[in-house]
Amino acid sequence: MRLIFLGPPGIGKGTQAKLLAEQRSLAHLSTGDMFRSVISRKTDLGTLAKSFIDKGKLVPDDFVLDMVNERLREDDTASGYIFDGFPRTVPQVEGFKKLLKELGQLIDHVIALEGNDTVLVERLSSRRTCPDCGKIINLIFSPPKMSGQCDGCRGELFQRNDDKPEVIQKRLDVYEEQTEPLVNYYESKALLRRVDGMGSVHEVAERIDKYLSLIHISEPTRLGMISYAVFCL
Ligand code: AMP
Repeated sequence: MRLIFLGPPGIGKGTQAKLLAEQRSLAHLSTGDMFRSVISRKTDLGTLAKSFIDKGKLVPDDFVLDMVNERLREDDTASGYIFDGFPRTVPQVEGFKKLLKELGQLIDHVIALEGNDTVLVERLSSRRTCPDCGKIINLIFSPPKMSGQCDGCRGELFQRNDDKPEVIQKRLDVYEEQTEPLVNYYESKALLRRVDGMGSVHEVAERIDKYLSLIHISEPTRLGMISYAVFCL
């Protein structure tokens, strides 16, 4: 199965994509994580990406597409994947289409998580990350037992530069201008399902799972259900 998670910053794409990828043994492909990794390794791409990310802007499409192209040729993506944070612009959709054709792949579903801006700003500004294990916590909804410390590995929690209040609004505006049009695009291709992203992690995960389980009923089961329905008429 190959999926795309779309949605504004702070909606919980990363959390949900990670969870689902673990449950269904899919590769979790977060372009944001890929950029954070090159930034921490201080590569040339990292320096360039940081200059955009810290201002709440998108990294230019060509760099994103090159990185995705490389990542999709790694073995762990062979049995399926979930894109989290990609594509984010119309040129990325176009580039991705070409790449999928080259690889002989199709996207099965696009999940668009939706929510309201007030909650998103609150979630983003109270989000903290552990630099050691990558765990994401929320100071309001899941505060750490020891202030400023990761419950799992005791790493010192930090706030991403792009989660600072002055950058958050910029990221939401960029989403609305450049990424939201993709929701209509994938909807017009009958690939997209809108899912309410408000509520607990568990509640949202259940909504996604319910949808995917419904459309992924195995073929014999589906045929059996149709025959039974016809028989009952
Ligand atoms: P995320 O962790 O998905 O919120 O991404 C963090 C930041 O990385 C974004 O605000 C962008 O600056 C950059 N980024 C991640 N994915 C993309 C993408 N597909 N296109 C352009 N920039 C991206």
